[in-house]
Amino acid sequence: MQPIISIQNISKSYGPIKALNNVSFDVPEGSVFGVLGPNGSGKTTLLAIIMDVLQSDGGSYSWLGGIPPDAARRQIGCLLETPNFYHYMSAYDNLAVSAALKRKGMDDRLRVLEIVGLTERKDSKFQSYSLGMKQRLAIGAALLDSPKVLVLDEPTNGLDPNGIAEIRELILDLNKQGITIIIASHLLDEIEKVCTHVAILKRGNLLLNGPVNEVLISEDQIEIMATDMILLENTVREMQGVKKVNKTEQTLQITCNEGITTAHINEFCLNRGIVLSHLSLRKKSLETKFMELTNQ
Ligand code: ATP
Repeated sequence: MQPIISIQNISKSYGPIKALNNVSFDVPEGSVFGVLGPNGSGKTTLLAIIMDVLQSDGGSYSWLGGIPPDAARRQIGCLLETPNFYHYMSAYDNLAVSAALKRKGMDDRLRVLEIVGLTERKDSKFQSYSLGMKQRLAIGAALLDSPKVLVLDEPTNGLDPNGIAEIRELILDLNKQGITIIIASHLLDEIEKVCTHVAILKRGNLLLNGPVNEVLISEDQIEIMATDMILLENTVREMQGVKKVNKTEQTLQITCNEGITTAHINEFCLNRGIVLSHLSLRKKSLETKFMELTNQ
């Protein structure tokens, strides 16, 4: 299947700061694609480039199989920063302003208000809206004229848990209707809960990308000790299914393929004449893995 967007070797510097360094990945059609990274990793810069708001220094991208940019733009709804809605105007009238500015359908306003759950409050003034409602209205504006793709930069920033949950539901609902969603976030939790695919950025470099259930798997670690640590290390390195062996001051921390348990390790060592003086399983959270990956 053709990717929704193919990004190839995009680089961008601001003076001495390399905001993006040769970043390449494809966004599959029908995915909720998370661009994940800590503050300053280049997420906003990347979205601004693919939305043609900012020029890259090098590299290229092509939307929807390389159709002309104008045609592509009509199929992309985008929310890079909160639009300047008028406080004294209703949601319905504010959408008229958005529609006029973007040359999008006035007649589509009731449909998008329904999608973002604001039909009942459509005539209320914008200033009476909660932060979550304001954000949903902004997403509504991006949905005018039924785009095929929705691009969102940190859509839950500043929202309370309720507001975050509403946006999450909305994203999942829109995706079910066939819209591909590209979402930048520094929140691992957000990406894990809504995204099917992820690209992780760190200081402008792409660390990894792929389906969430392949990239963001939490790995358990088994910690072991024995009297002869050198013999122990050499021995476990020979064991099938052991992926990684890390030495700490006093222990060995090993990461294994799925299915290898502490009992297997114990048995393997015993069979080779090593009695373990310590054996424990340390559940590694995704949070820890993300922190390690991004060196936070
Ligand atoms: P955040 O979550 O904080 O918005 P981000 O991942 O979106 O971060 P960017 O905003 O793209 O990251 O910034 C990437 C790097 O480029 C950072 O070091 C940032 O300070 C720098 N940067 C971004 N915009 C500019 C600019 N206009 N001038 C100079 N440096 C900039």
